[in-house]
Parts: sequence; structure tokens; C-alpha cells
Amino acid sequence: MITFDKVSKTFPDGTLAVDNLNFELPTGKITVFVGPSGCGKTTSLRMINRMIEPTGGRIMIDGQDVTQQDAALLRRSIGYVIQHAGLFPHRTVIENVMTVPNLIGTDKKKSRATAMELLLRVGLTESMADKYPVQLSGGQEQRVGVARALAADPPVMLMDEPFSAVDPIVRAGLQTEFLRLQGELGKTIAFVTHDIDEAIKLGDMVAVFKEGGHLAQYASPQELLENPANDFVADFVGRDR
Ligand code: ATP
Repeated sequence: MITFDKVSKTFPDGTLAVDNLNFELPTGKITVFVGPSGCGKTTSLRMINRMIEPTGGRIMIDGQDVTQQDAALLRRSIGYVIQHAGLFPHRTVIENVMTVPNLIGTDKKKSRATAMELLLRVGLTESMADKYPVQLSGGQEQRVGVARALAADPPVMLMDEPFSAVDPIVRAGLQTEFLRLQGELGKTIAFVTHDIDEAIKLGDMVAVFKEGGHLAQYASPQELLENPANDFVADFVGRDR
């Protein structure tokens, strides 16, 4: 479980990006951070793996304050997937997926076999393995990004708009396959999107953010739809209150 305990972030220029967040991301589930642009979703996500440090409160993973842990070690146990997969352009697909296992000294043959298995799991074929990122479609790139994050077998995954750079049909396919994969793997996932339909489709729990870095509601998709806590959430999910 990941706990946000009175978490705030004010940037050095005085911007209050996140204001007193209190909620828990359940283990083995997908929690979606959704809301309009600039309301603190990415900042909240990045505080989990200490890419950004909170200025107030604490984030705990299974009861352990993340700021008490070595940042490099912490990041090895937390997969990270971003909008444009951020693949290394001069490395092949399989080399990209093997990045972390190679870094931590996993036997090359073993990590290659695991990487190949992961490529198949995310819906790619063996023939993709020796291509370079520039030869891939946007959807294929995102799949490789997911496979790379999974290669270290992290219990926690942070995903920041991972499917938003691809067209709607590819996106729908990626979402469906992501849910299937998560059904097998049961990772603890924090997933950022500004798309409420994506949040409703993917989230076991949904944290709706609003301007000023406030949490407008934290609930299951069903509860959000049936019982929005305020006008902001009702508008955002497109329901009358
Ligand atoms: P988007 O959906 O557009 O990515 P977001 O909800 O993820 O937005 P954040 O990126 O977390 O929002 O930004 C929250 C607020 O903090 C915004 O007002 C943003 O301008 C501000 N902000 C983000 N990073 C910094 C920074 N390094 N310094 C100052 N302000 C920042």
C-alpha cells in the first residue's frame, strides 16, 4: 500500500502544486490520478519515487517513508513509464528492455530470455527484438516502454499518460491489453491521465484532482459515476448531481 499522508509540494518559485493530499493506493491495484492540466498529478506521481521531494507530509510504501530510503534503490523497485516511452534510440528493442537487468548484473542469457518473454507479453513479436526505436510505431514504442519497466519485476509501477500519444484505436487496444497484463501481474500501479474515460476504464480506484493540487474525490469508478462528491467531480465525469 502507498500512503499519502498530508502531502504538499510548493516549488521554489512559490507555486503550490499539491495541497494536503491524504489517500491510500491499495496494493496490487490500479489507482488513477485524473484531472485537468496543471492540477498536480505528475508532481504527486513523482514524489512516490523521489524524483520530486514533498515540502510537507509523508509518502509511505508499506509503512516505510520513501524519504528514508536510498533514492537509487527505491527507483529500482518502482517501474516508470512516460508518455513518449523514452527509449534509448541507439539501443535495440531487446537491449532497451534489458537495461535494468544489465545494470544490476543479471546473467545476460537469462535477462535476454526474460526480455523476450516480456515483449511477447506486451503484444510484440520476436521479430521486433532487434529493431531500433525509430523503426517502431507509437503504440509499439509504448509497449516496449511497458516491457522495459516490467523487466526489473518491480512491485510498484508509475505510469504518466503512457497511452496518450497514440491514436484512439491503438489507445483502446493498449488499455485492454494493459488490463489483461495487470490481471496476471497484480502490480501496485499509480496511473496519471487527464482522460476521465481512461480513468473509469482502468482504475480500481480513482483520485480526481482539481486546480490548486487538491483532491476533489477519491473513490471507485462506480462511486464516482453514481455519487460524485461535488459539482467539480460531477462536471468532470459528465453527470448531473
Ligand atoms: P498536466 O496534466 O498538464 O501534465 P499535472 O496535473 O500533471 O498537469 P503538474 O505537472 O503536477 O500538473 O503541475 C502542477 C503545478 O505545478 C502546475 O501549476 C505547474 O505549472 C507547477 N509546476 C510543475 N513543476 C514545476 C516546477 N518545477 N517549478 C514550478 N512550478 C512547477
